[in-house]
Amino acid sequence: MILSTVHADKPSLSHTDGQNNHRPSDAEDPPGCLSQRFRQRFFHDVPDAVWNDWKWQFRNRITTVEHLAQFIPLDPSEQERLKFVISRYPFSITPHYLSLIDPDDPDDPVRRQAVPSCEETALAGIGDEDPLAEQEHSVVPGLVHRYPDRALMVLTNLCPVLCRHCTRKREWRHGKCVRTDADIALMIDYIRQTPDIRDVIISGGDSLTLSTGRLETVLKNLRAISHVEIIRIGTRFPVVLPQRIDEELCAMLSKYGPIWINTHFNHPREITPEAAAACDRLLRSGIPLNNQSVLLRGVNDSVAIQTKLCHELLKIKVRPYYLFQTDDVEGTEHLRTSIETGIAIIAGMRGYTSGLAVPTFVIDLPGGGGKVPLQPEYVIAASPNEYIFRNYEGSVFRCRNPRPDTGAEDVHSVIPLSR
Ligand code: SF4
Repeated sequence: MILSTVHADKPSLSHTDGQNNHRPSDAEDPPGCLSQRFRQRFFHDVPDAVWNDWKWQFRNRITTVEHLAQFIPLDPSEQERLKFVISRYPFSITPHYLSLIDPDDPDDPVRRQAVPSCEETALAGIGDEDPLAEQEHSVVPGLVHRYPDRALMVLTNLCPVLCRHCTRKREWRHGKCVRTDADIALMIDYIRQTPDIRDVIISGGDSLTLSTGRLETVLKNLRAISHVEIIRIGTRFPVVLPQRIDEELCAMLSKYGPIWINTHFNHPREITPEAAAACDRLLRSGIPLNNQSVLLRGVNDSVAIQTKLCHELLKIKVRPYYLFQTDDVEGTEHLRTSIETGIAIIAGMRGYTSGLAVPTFVIDLPGGGGKVPLQPEYVIAASPNEYIFRNYEGSVFRCRNPRPDTGAEDVHSVIPLSR
């Protein structure tokens, strides 16, 4: 039964209005088209076999302003300002990821994620170096144990692309760092001696920067611990260097399942044919893929871009899992949106597209308070006997609330009421 229609809390970001003005071309550009043009313009002498060699991609990362200026127009004063920024927050971009940037668009959504901005230092007084208090919860160097049944391993601070919105930007100051075998042994020992830990998350810096053999040793040691039920790997390689996901890596990973991989796609343009093929190889190796994206100003802060991103993810069989409110990290303020923006985006997706395509919008509470899901309010009123809801269109519905002591069979008489 529809009681009435309310409009007051409809999403403020409609499918056609949003803060991100890149929608039309993003929606129309065939995947890989921009990258092909970029390669023809700047890397025409690099054969496919070399371009698709992940070690070549890794060795040829762009890490200096002078090198970057060969691809993206940067006037001399901007170059000087960026040199100051990277003395604090270095950068690194793979040729593959660089090829997804429109060099002539200063507001390009891929560029905003990878190319340093003067705003990083101009707004550096805002935010915190370690808003999630990870250092406080480190039980041994590189191992965070904050929740009873989960532990987070950070094996390196190296990443092929240094995302400008990274929560662990503080780690970049220490130069390139890979945990020693002795450090890793301490982490494994702690996990072995803590039977409550059933879920180990290996997260960024990106552990796939380790050699396949070294990563295998870590996984083998974890798998030998009987109470470790699942291993999760958070990686941006499928996005920024998909060539790394080769048959050798997939064959190795398939030996130590259940392994779950969390990818980090933030924009539909990142879902290139190479990224799709990398995800397919992982899926065929028995590894489920979930995507954790970060809500970023000028990148994906509109209903249209988020919907397109999630549709494209589902087409390559990656489940949109979380959409994160950007953590309150020093040097990222220019990329953060209001919390209301995220809630409005979810309101603009829920009901308008498949539930499978709607991620859970979450905020990681400062100080290690954990994740809290945020969603539009659908409950208008509640009593012991009845709930009153609004649906995604603003129509109002009443649902009888079963008495607490009624049996499960009564649930079926509650929903739905006829419209
Ligand atoms: S891949 Fe992850 S850990 Fe690495 S820079 Fe990006 S956000 Fe940070």
